[in-house]
Amino acid sequence: MKIAILSTNPRLYSTRRLVEAGKEHGHEVLVVNHKRCYMNITTHRPSVHYKGDAITGVDAIIPRIGASVSFYGTAVVRQFEMMGVYSVNESTAITRSRDKLRALQLLSRSGIGLPITGFANSPDDTDDLLRFVGGAPVVIKLLEGTQGVGVVLGETKKAAESVIEAFRGLNANFMVQEFIKEAGGSDIRCFVIGEKVVASMIRTGKEGEFRSNLHRGGSAKLTKITPEERSTAVRSAKIMGLNVAGVDLLRSNHGPVVMEVNSSPGLEGIETATGKDIAGQIIQFIEKNARHGRTKTRGKG
Ligand code: ADP
Ligand code: MG
Repeated sequence: MKIAILSTNPRLYSTRRLVEAGKEHGHEVLVVNHKRCYMNITTHRPSVHYKGDAITGVDAIIPRIGASVSFYGTAVVRQFEMMGVYSVNESTAITRSRDKLRALQLLSRSGIGLPITGFANSPDDTDDLLRFVGGAPVVIKLLEGTQGVGVVLGETKKAAESVIEAFRGLNANFMVQEFIKEAGGSDIRCFVIGEKVVASMIRTGKEGEFRSNLHRGGSAKLTKITPEERSTAVRSAKIMGLNVAGVDLLRSNHGPVVMEVNSSPGLEGIETATGKDIAGQIIQFIEKNARHGRTKTRGKG
């Protein structure tokens, strides 16, 4: 097969590992910088071009779209879909999971456990908003933040109000969430491929930090998850429509709650913590599932 990895940086661990695994499995693998792709949105022969040439003969793409290029990146993925190219994660699924509020709304509809979450527009409603997530301490989160940036703990009502006021002043969209204190600064990353959790790790923030992101200095180790956590992760990925996903859970007093579902989960942390060949498993999934024109959302926006 000819597999294209959409990535802005071929030197990143995840990109390198996918290239390596693809080649090990006997495939032709190319890394395409989606920021440099341009498209001809013609009716009969839609195409994607890269540095002067049309990209042809690709059987499958693996999108690794960073949060800062979601709009352009998903447009490129969509264009490949229009050409009938199989994408391991489809554009609509990526878009759904990128917007944290939209993702939580979809998950809530299917009865997935979530931290109590509120969203409001007017400053006049801040009091009520804080009240229905249980009052301070609360977590205030930008809808499109990533790697822990834009996630703030408002320890007191006053602190929460100041952060909300600041975010509003910047015209940023944010949500307010119940603080799951009992999680103790740790979360569980479940790596889902297809309908299976293929690896899981517990990540713990550095001393004094409630955010467990590895990019914020957190550390990761292998963990065993409960059957409830496993089914929550698999169902969440499925609801988003993602074949490859990093589902992040918190262990709350009322069972596992989903914080977010990542459509380009990093491989370094999970492969290091678990010693598993996750990149190889992604390639195997593609081998089993990639078919020309097998795009569920093709033409459905
Ligand atoms: P990002 O996309 O920036 O990673 P997350 O929503 O995953 O944003 O939040 C980052 C980290 O902050 C989580 O991994 C978790 O450790 C912590 N966190 C987020 N929301 C809550 C919450 N409601 N209660 C407790 N901890 C939280
Ligand atoms: Mg996260």
